[in-house]
Amino acid sequence: VRFEVSKVLDAIEKRLSTDPALARGVVDLAEIVRYQDLDGGRPSTLLRLGQVVDALGRFLAEENVPVFAVVDRALLSDVDLSSNERMVIRRWADDGLVEVLPDSGDRVLEVAELTGLPVISRETFADSGRAWLKQPGRLLVPATGPGTPRLRALVTGTPDTSVPEGSGKEVLNRLWRCPEAGCGAFGSGRVGRPGGQPPPRMRNGVPICPRHDVQLLPVGPRPAAEVLVVRIDGSIRQRFVVSADQSVTVGRAPDGIDQGPGVLMLGPWLSEEARRWISRSHVVLEMLATDLVARDVSTNGTVVRVGGSTDEADRLLLSKDQVRKIAVEDVLELYPGVQVARAGRLDSKRPVEPKSVMAEAPTMMIQLPQG
Ligand SMILES: [Zn+2]
Repeated sequence: VRFEVSKVLDAIEKRLSTDPALARGVVDLAEIVRYQDLDGGRPSTLLRLGQVVDALGRFLAEENVPVFAVVDRALLSDVDLSSNERMVIRRWADDGLVEVLPDSGDRVLEVAELTGLPVISRETFADSGRAWLKQPGRLLVPATGPGTPRLRALVTGTPDTSVPEGSGKEVLNRLWRCPEAGCGAFGSGRVGRPGGQPPPRMRNGVPICPRHDVQLLPVGPRPAAEVLVVRIDGSIRQRFVVSADQSVTVGRAPDGIDQGPGVLMLGPWLSEEARRWISRSHVVLEMLATDLVARDVSTNGTVVRVGGSTDEADRLLLSKDQVRKIAVEDVLELYPGVQVARAGRLDSKRPVEPKSVMAEAPTMMIQLPQG
């Protein structure tokens, strides 16, 4: 059982991000781990985070959806969790994958407010004084009871992601440095894209490191970035960031680099025909100043659907080494049905049952969906 649990935790780990450009929802981990009704198991288990991650993917109809998890430090000594689970959370915190705070307070609401991300919670936050929580899609409620976990928006309608005036959102336009050595969020301990820093915690208008509770020092402007998605056969498979400090090579299996930031490997999602057509490294996306630019590096070329048009007359072929600025509405096509565009330009066109992070979970841990 232990072996399988650790595989599930590895799968969950890949779906944690404190990068505001990548995360799709904010959770209070101490709340989620106690959703005992989901499986009728132990009072607390970290596996419930996986069920909530799965539920978010289903709700958004997207694959590989990451969450921003806020962790009150008290959880690290919560004996309802296994010692292994507590160790895993500590490791996630050291790598900057989750945010551990001495006192999480209303940090979940603060992150959601500054980033426009939805809060995933069963609390109503009725006395929080935050009017935006009543906007459509800002509060997603995990259903109670066993079965495949689902989320429902407390208020339905076109999701609102606006950031209220006066919330201090300008702090997100800058990069910050924590004076504490090796800080995993705002320092040399950070894993991943430097420009993917989480929002600072604001106290009386002063930005603070959430983990170390000290004032942050300004480093400079946050590098220009664009959030993109890849859609294959009608489903959004992956969201990724192209930024001035991080170009991204997209292809069947881009060479020589770990599958991390900077590389988007499409291979596992492709049909055999698409796999034959698309080059190992097919197109490189980068930011030149504030422009998103595509450089074809493939054998067969990259199609630009100008303005997102499906009209053949608006189809433009980028051949090897050709470079083109990608306008807001443009859609890149590496092969019919394999498309890359800015997030929001492409939706999943068919119902998505995203691959579960719980696939390896011991069956006794999860109730199978009823009917
Ligand atoms: Zn710090």
